[in-house]
Amino acid sequence: MENVIIIGGGTAGLSAAVYAARAQLEPMVLKGDQPGGQITLTDSLENYPGFPDGITGFGLFQAMEQQAIRFGANVIADAVTSVDFNQHPFKVHTRVGEYEARTIIIATGSDPRKLNVPGEKEFIGKGVSYCATCDGFFYKDRQVVVVGGGDSAIDEGLFLTRFAAKVTVVHRRDRLRANPHLQTRAFENERMDFIWDSVVEEVVGDDKVNHVRLKNVKTEEVKEFQTDGVFVFIGHIPNTQIFENAIEMDERKIIITDKRQQTNVPGVYAAGDVQDPIYRQAVTSAGTGAIAAMEAEKFIAELEGKSYPGKL
Ligand code: NAP
Repeated sequence: MENVIIIGGGTAGLSAAVYAARAQLEPMVLKGDQPGGQITLTDSLENYPGFPDGITGFGLFQAMEQQAIRFGANVIADAVTSVDFNQHPFKVHTRVGEYEARTIIIATGSDPRKLNVPGEKEFIGKGVSYCATCDGFFYKDRQVVVVGGGDSAIDEGLFLTRFAAKVTVVHRRDRLRANPHLQTRAFENERMDFIWDSVVEEVVGDDKVNHVRLKNVKTEEVKEFQTDGVFVFIGHIPNTQIFENAIEMDERKIIITDKRQQTNVPGVYAAGDVQDPIYRQAVTSAGTGAIAAMEAEKFIAELEGKSYPGKL
């Protein structure tokens, strides 16, 4: 039986692994199909403390994984297919096996919702981005398009005006969903423009993006719009499908945790984007991963010689 099974091998999961491994818990990390998670989507991470010259997302992932392994984490390239938290020890079923654990840390992250249009996937890292904080700096004095009309699109769009010469928000309706305060700031910002009732039909370029094809959903008119970058903020999809009916989530399917990263099931913790709809930064994910591991350690210490405290 494992002390801790960490589901997910991104920033939150690997940070939890480092902490749990250093506490001699020999954690098992099931790193899933997208090892490294969202940081590997970005070319260069320049806001992760400790790297004054920046680090590639992939480089940070590799370094964190090596660090966890060095302290005794067992990192396995396997994906979880179902869980059973109705009994203790908890059961975790994967593609190739079945494991039991005294504690679980869920760190399966979230995926940015995609436009699913031609060119989007091909130009990720070459003009298409899902993170202004990560990539905005590379668009100094350039033209960028932001897709979406919610808080993220406007918040991140405003952030991009610090760098870009012009930020054009393309929204599928004629009004924003973002909160009024953000809307006022956006409408007052001279570097921000809006194209209403429009959707991106295609992202086009050669080795980098140079324009998007936009369609007006009311008039059906299609036009080309020159841009150096396309930032997509149309929501996130938490990777929580396998925990449906096992763990309490909100209406957006985000796992509900307290300040100790504890879920509604004692001994099951969640860290990173899977429980954070707001900050979603590598550094905040790493922080919640560390907290989850420290709480798992405490839980195991309290469990020694006692029965499982949850109501099973
Ligand atoms: P969101 O509120 O769900 O907004 C998503 C936006 O993308 C909407 O404007 C939606 O259009 C549009 N959209 C969805 N699918 C689309 C598609 N396929 N093509 C084109 N447009 C599409 O998501 P979010 O902005 O990421 O916010 C998520 C949560 O985080 C919210 O609760 C938000 O309040 C919170 N948040 C808060 C802050 C802040 O307070 N500063 C910052 C970021 C996030 P429609 O409007 O037509 O539906």
